Amino acid sequence: MEENLIPENDTPRESSANQNARQGDENTSSNKSSYRKSHYYNRRRKFYNNRQTQQPQSSSSNRTSFKKISIVLPLYNEEESINPLANEIRKVLRAAEVSFEVIFVDDGSTDKSLKVIKDICRQDRRFKYISFRKNYGKSAALQIGFKNVTGEAVITMDADLQDDPNEIPSLLKKLEEGFDLVSGWKKKRHDPFIKKISSRFFNFVTRLMTGIKIHDFNCGLKAYRKEVTDSVKVYGELHRYVPVLADWEGFSVSEIVVKHHPRRYGKTKFGISRFFKGFVDLITVVFSTRYIKRPMHFFGFLGAFSFIVGLIVNGYLTYDWIMGKALSNRPMLFLGMLLIIVGVQFFSVGLLGEMLVHNSMDDKEYIIKDKG
Ligand code: UDP
Ligand code: MG
Repeated sequence: MEENLIPENDTPRESSANQNARQGDENTSSNKSSYRKSHYYNRRRKFYNNRQTQQPQSSSSNRTSFKKISIVLPLYNEEESINPLANEIRKVLRAAEVSFEVIFVDDGSTDKSLKVIKDICRQDRRFKYISFRKNYGKSAALQIGFKNVTGEAVITMDADLQDDPNEIPSLLKKLEEGFDLVSGWKKKRHDPFIKKISSRFFNFVTRLMTGIKIHDFNCGLKAYRKEVTDSVKVYGELHRYVPVLADWEGFSVSEIVVKHHPRRYGKTKFGISRFFKGFVDLITVVFSTRYIKRPMHFFGFLGAFSFIVGLIVNGYLTYDWIMGKALSNRPMLFLGMLLIIVGVQFFSVGLLGEMLVHNSMDDKEYIIKDKG
């Protein structure tokens, strides 16, 4: 049985250093122009810093100051890929000289995946597994993994060998710069043409709707500080939007270019239906991140708009009626009535939503960064 390479308290704490660096950024911007410059720089840094391709790094520069890394691997029927992946992860993290744990989340596999991961976990105590009784989906697998991690930094990877464990040190390095979530960007994707095109479109719309300027929301390879995995809730099929959920909670998001490989064994678990589901989920995400705490801003606005337009339409018709014109053959009347009724409905839904928010207000939902 292999032991962790470094005792847990040997490695210096990283997060406080980074926090100081981040606080330093804020404190030094005392006058307006330097504030503007640093603000601009930080925004640029937040979103665009990662356009350059990553350079291969020597093993000494692969060291990380995180005390322990957790790797979460969601898997559904990936029996052939698991062993090569586990070996590669061991190799990369041995070179990085970091203590780690790997959490396999078997998402109700029906092949031999569970047996394979059990064998690995028996031989190497750094590997653990959680197995679902049935297939709940990748989001559920990630969420349960997140709830069980103990490392300071968390890496997620697909278990089909398409993501490359050699990128882990670069992701950690980016995280150490002070970001809370670093997403991989599969700049050169090895997927079917139709998938590449639709994914581009999907990323474009998501970027537009959320304002988060990263290129590849749905990359399986990502690195997070533990604070992020502790607080985001990934359910349904929201795994595509983890950067959006994190950004909404005030965490900084960045990306780096990562290598991507063609699928070697098995086949993809997501068919073409992913894109339709993806867009419905986008609406869920945008609503739940922007309006969940203020539903009246959404429904109230729509309701008021619809009501006022309906009122204008019917006011006009009433004027005609007073002037002696008959209303018997005026389809506009129905439009006006419909708009007024829909307006009232929206408004009522907004009010109900506000009541729900009011009753479920909970201070625990606010994530506190620091306390004096
Ligand atoms: N996966 C999972 N549960 C599912 C579907 C997929 O845990 O219901 C895992 C899968 O085993 C793989 C990762 O999620 O490790 C990504 O899936 P896949 O490779 O099929 O997606 P693609 O690369 O085609 O986007
Ligand atoms: Mg894949």
